[in-house]
Amino acid sequence: MTYVVTENCIKCKYMDCVEVCPVDCFYEGENFLVIHPDECIDCGVCEPECPAEAIKPDTEPGLDQWLTLNADFVKNWPNITRKRNPPEDSKDWDGKPGKLELLSPNPGEGD
Ligand code: SF4
Ligand code: SF4
Repeated sequence: MTYVVTENCIKCKYMDCVEVCPVDCFYEGENFLVIHPDECIDCGVCEPECPAEAIKPDTEPGLDQWLTLNADFVKNWPNITRKRNPPEDSKDWDGKPGKLELLSPNPGEGD
């Protein structure tokens, strides 16, 4: 089992989650974060910390696409453990549908 970051993180990227993860298993893209499925210890601490409610346990149905995306992007994105300021327009994107097509494959800055 692992936790997985899903669509509503895209362009919100609040980064509250990275500070609470006991095993530092978040990785940063340009406008999205992912969880390393082999490093996550399923503690669940990050799930309620996400203001966008984008973090889900993989026991929820319908997450196959997001599990694949998380597992793929951790290979090329840098680790992140410290919260930075979110994008200025973060709140404007919170809850908007259809954000998947805006997901950037480019890596973020990392720590
Ligand atoms: S707190 Fe939620 S929206 Fe923010 S980076 Fe983490 S998963 Fe994405
Ligand atoms: S469930 Fe725990 S170990 Fe997994 S990403 Fe969240 S805080 Fe980290």
